Amino acid sequence: MRVRGWTLAALLLVATAAAGTEAPAPLRFDGAPVQGALVRGWAPPGTSLALRGKNVRVDADGAFVLGFGRDEAGPVPLEITPPQGPARTERLAVARREWPIQRIDGLPPGQVTPDTAALERIRAEQTRLDAARAVDSPEQGFRGPFTWPASGPISGVYGSQRVLNGQPRAPHVGLDIAGPEGAPVRAPAAGVVRLAEPDLFFLGGTVILDHGHGVTTLYAHLSAVAARPGQRLGPGDALGRIGKTGRVTGAHLHFALYWQGIALDPAGLLPQTRPAAE
Ligand SMILES: [Zn+2]
Repeated sequence: MRVRGWTLAALLLVATAAAGTEAPAPLRFDGAPVQGALVRGWAPPGTSLALRGKNVRVDADGAFVLGFGRDEAGPVPLEITPPQGPARTERLAVARREWPIQRIDGLPPGQVTPDTAALERIRAEQTRLDAARAVDSPEQGFRGPFTWPASGPISGVYGSQRVLNGQPRAPHVGLDIAGPEGAPVRAPAAGVVRLAEPDLFFLGGTVILDHGHGVTTLYAHLSAVAARPGQRLGPGDALGRIGKTGRVTGAHLHFALYWQGIALDPAGLLPQTRPAAE
């Protein structure tokens, strides 16, 4: 799915040739804009960027990252303001993907259709989750590389349409790794802990790591949380253990990736080879 070395240079040359001006320095990307993709890129230092009108953090060396949601239809406007010269807007086409349907039966009815008291709790938890996923810090972990946070078979993929006990629900926006209960969960890249909760309604034991530039990762259904808010983790540091807390039918890690709060596909970041069981 990933197209290495994809560049806007060709498009920009066509555009500027038509306008009769000097070609602006191109942006470089390490992947193509695809639904669910996190795409890292480099701009000439001093460039300002805004995607869909929202500012994108650009480092001193020009490194930045963009995210494209599951249902992103495109074209998505990327406003580029170089250190010198006029701003320009590129419209990024976003390649579509097919999403499978996943049926899960046998969940407790109260977890599929929560009662009023549960809804209040869910809303309060949602606010805290949203705040942790909205962090846009200068942390550097987003540059990667990212490694698998746990070992085990994949039991759920990003983007699948969910039907729970026969009722259509929101799509699944994470990767499920069916490791054994108690197996360690490790930070896939450097990050700062922004949320560490032992028991959320849907997610159970949950940790959110901030990798900088709006990139966060989430770990759910943990049987044990071994991280505290503000803690800095290096790649491979343990943050908890696989469990079956929250809304689950069995022990697994729900691993999710966000950029500026938009859920992305973590599989696109991970190496092809999965780690052996610990
Ligand atoms: Zn999941």
